[in-house]
Amino acid sequence: MVELFDSSCPFCLIINGKMKAEKLYESEKSIAFLDINPINYGHALVVSKEHYRDFGELPEDVFVDLVHTLRIVAKAIVDAMSPDGFNIFNNNGTAAGQTVFHFHFHVAPRYKNDGLKFRPIVKAYDSPEHMSDYAKRIREKINSTVKLGDPE
Ligand code: AMP
Ligand code: ZN
Repeated sequence: MVELFDSSCPFCLIINGKMKAEKLYESEKSIAFLDINPINYGHALVVSKEHYRDFGELPEDVFVDLVHTLRIVAKAIVDAMSPDGFNIFNNNGTAAGQTVFHFHFHVAPRYKNDGLKFRPIVKAYDSPEHMSDYAKRIREKINSTVKLGDPE
């Protein structure tokens, strides 16, 4: 069962008005505020109002609401800051860099010479067969999920 509020979670405290944040926007199921340690100024977080640990726990209706908020916030950052580009990203699990275990998207303005690299190591597949094997493993899971969700 998913715990919808966690008193040790900084984002839950912000959502409940117990911790300060520079809020940008709020919808029914999501909220956006500035990241306290930005990779560039104006770096924002788009956060579910309910406490879901990560992407795996997030219900689809909350995801849809988050994407709607994401579009509004990303457009506003572009209009306000005129960056050269921007990244939208989300970390799931410690290995992926997640440090706050309450689902959120990052929206970060980017500049040509800001020195940040999101793909410092690029792997090569050993062969086309090696690549196909990964596609096959993922497709099998997609097919079994779709079948389970399909009405007969
Ligand atoms: P992640 O590493 O993807 O889990 O991202 C967590 C982000 O939350 C980091 O970029 C932190 O700088 C940011 N953060 C942590 N605590 C706060 C806070 N109280 N207010 C705003 N941003 C925060
Ligand atoms: Zn939380």
